[in-house]
Amino acid sequence: MQELIDRGALLTELKTAKEGSMVAVRHIQEHEVYTAESIALTTFSIVEDVINNAPTIDPVKHGVWVGEVDGYADGYMIYDQWYCDQCNHCEENDEPDTLPNYCPSCGAKMSVSKNSDE
Ligand SMILES: [Zn+2]
Repeated sequence: MQELIDRGALLTELKTAKEGSMVAVRHIQEHEVYTAESIALTTFSIVEDVINNAPTIDPVKHGVWVGEVDGYADGYMIYDQWYCDQCNHCEENDEPDTLPNYCPSCGAKMSVSKNSDE
């Protein structure tokens, strides 16, 4: 499975791990308890843990079609203009079920909201 990792968050995690490892390095220097090989393997294990636990980002931008009330018919509100909440692109449409699944202007994956209060 492919995932996108947030570079800034990963670097922060690595910096934290690096600062934590300085305690271990001082212990090793003082007590000479580890071999160079075990130190290298431990370092790689720590880096693998950091990468495996790094926050991932969702590459899909999400948006909502926000309907504007045009009036009432038979006691129900009529929406015929829908605005993308990401880029303000307007779709003229009185059938919300037929609104595009993706905003044709900004490409956001869209869901429908009847008004801006939802
Ligand atoms: Zn848009």
